[in-house]
Amino acid sequence: MNIYDLDSINSIPKGSYAVIGYPIEHSLSPDIHNALTKNNNYYCISLKPEELKKALPILRKKLKGFNCTIPHKLSIMQHLDYIDESATEYGAVNTVKVEGNRLYGYNTDGKGFLSAIKRAGMNLGNKSILLCGAGGVARVMAFECVKKGAHLTIYNRSKQRAIDLMKAIKLQYHDSRIDVIDIVVNVKWDYLLNATPQGMYPKVNDIPIDPVLVPNFKGVYDTIYNPLETKLIKLAKEHNITADNGLYMLIMQAIHARVIWEGYGSSENIIGNIYNMLVTYLTIR
Ligand code: NAP
Repeated sequence: MNIYDLDSINSIPKGSYAVIGYPIEHSLSPDIHNALTKNNNYYCISLKPEELKKALPILRKKLKGFNCTIPHKLSIMQHLDYIDESATEYGAVNTVKVEGNRLYGYNTDGKGFLSAIKRAGMNLGNKSILLCGAGGVARVMAFECVKKGAHLTIYNRSKQRAIDLMKAIKLQYHDSRIDVIDIVVNVKWDYLLNATPQGMYPKVNDIPIDPVLVPNFKGVYDTIYNPLETKLIKLAKEHNITADNGLYMLIMQAIHARVIWEGYGSSENIIGNIYNMLVTYLTIR
């Protein structure tokens, strides 16, 4: 895959799409979007934080839309002409639509998460949920759990960050049921959601909670997709607990971005083919 940078973005054809980030070489977005459209008009742009401002006039001119990943998900917000409600709530933008000279910001991670949870056979409504993590993706998941009426408990390495997240949610959803805990104890829960990188390649033996507590859950959702089967997911399956990884969420946030850019999504058939393609890719590499 060709990776463009500030010096070479001018050579990207007008009317294309892209992902901007740094580092960007491991992004799966070009594989997903190019498989979705078969146009090969989705590019990968490596942009350091300090290069964003300089790149924006060229991105405006060249692209119909772009995705933002680390470190631009927050910093892009000050340059946008409009920010969608979901992106405001999550405090981050992952999808930008370019219309004329105007930039419209959205966040499709929440829709991706809800699609993935549905596919995993989990129903968040009125469930007791333990969420591990309080970073970017945890924030999205926490808001969506609360909006679905779940009773949410947040556990994070830095407790203060979990408390800040709880406060941000309560500010908007006064009646939401949220707690923050210091330590995961031996309590029965409905679902465990992992929004930390614990278990992600190369630290595949890491796990966000004490392994002996895994049987306390009826369902486990891990946002990690590399590896496809984390230690947490393996353990859950050994105990016949419903469990799924983050791959479908990743694909569905991309599909929802295309709906914003082009007004239509993709058939189940195409989504299934992309899922299988990425499973093969992530398994053999
Ligand atoms: P982030 O904003 O950097 O947040 C990372 C979170 O994990 C923080 O709560 C952090 O705790 C915690 N954490 C990091 N390292 C830890 C460790 N060694 N032990 C315990 N806690 C640790 O990252 P993010 O964007 O939310 O991403 C988190 C995970 O979600 C990543 O694995 C990423 O691959 C995955 N993800 C998946 C999708 C998808 O579509 N499937 C999308 C986005 C992200 P502190 O607050 O204490 O630092």
